Amino acid sequence: MKRSIRLALAAMALVLSVPVVYVQSEKTGVERLYILNCGEGPTSDVSRWTPGMNEGKAVVFVDTCYLIKHTQGWFLWDTGVPDAVASMPNGLIPSDPKATVWHRPKTLAAQLDQLGVKPSEIKWMGVSHSHPDHTGNVEMFPQAILHVQKAEYDWPGANNEPRFKPSHPVVLLTGDRDVFGDGSLTILSTPGHTPGHQSLLVKLPKTGAVLLSGDAVHFRSNFDGRVIPSMNVSKEQTTASMQKIADTIEKEKARLWINHDKAQRDGQKMSPEFYD
Ligand SMILES: [Zn+2]
Repeated sequence: MKRSIRLALAAMALVLSVPVVYVQSEKTGVERLYILNCGEGPTSDVSRWTPGMNEGKAVVFVDTCYLIKHTQGWFLWDTGVPDAVASMPNGLIPSDPKATVWHRPKTLAAQLDQLGVKPSEIKWMGVSHSHPDHTGNVEMFPQAILHVQKAEYDWPGANNEPRFKPSHPVVLLTGDRDVFGDGSLTILSTPGHTPGHQSLLVKLPKTGAVLLSGDAVHFRSNFDGRVIPSMNVSKEQTTASMQKIADTIEKEKARLWINHDKAQRDGQKMSPEFYD
């Protein structure tokens, strides 16, 4: 046998011995991102978020959800204040007078409806952490696979209650996770505000990389000054997470989108407009 034929046969054998498991016919990735209004409300004293500063200063917070269209389906990041708050004329009055009084100018359900997306079409979701202003509507999507850090999931709630409904399908994470394996949507472990707080790095085709920081930081000024709210569970972890976010922003040339920062969100395109 000629050497060239022998080589060709050997190459064929090599190719045939590798089972074909997946043919990638189309590009996979994130296609667009919608910013949803998931709450707004005043707090009479912002100083717990900025210890040593702003004593008695009133501030308005916003609460934000992000709906992401991936080639494989819809992914929802954070679910905001419960939709039931929309029908409370004075908002959700907290027991602590210095906490935020949440209002719901628009329901999450109405904003999805405006986009023609049924709750049952959301295949995957994630929450930055388990606080009620982020998990208020998780059970609107009982079928959506919830991505949450194990440290957050296992963190006992009030009266030792679980923080998530035990029957809800869940992926328990112990660190970073490339959700679809194509690098377009990556959950980043950023503990400190809570034991299993996480952020989301989204790579959009035109807009580029965006880092959704949840409550790893509450305002741009807190990020720039590395200011840590008094209610965070760990200062050390918060500092490390802020540095991880800063390093990721630099490496990915990402924009930092802060969930509760009203000044920032006032300048953003809200759903039904979108970022692609
Ligand atoms: Zn929050």
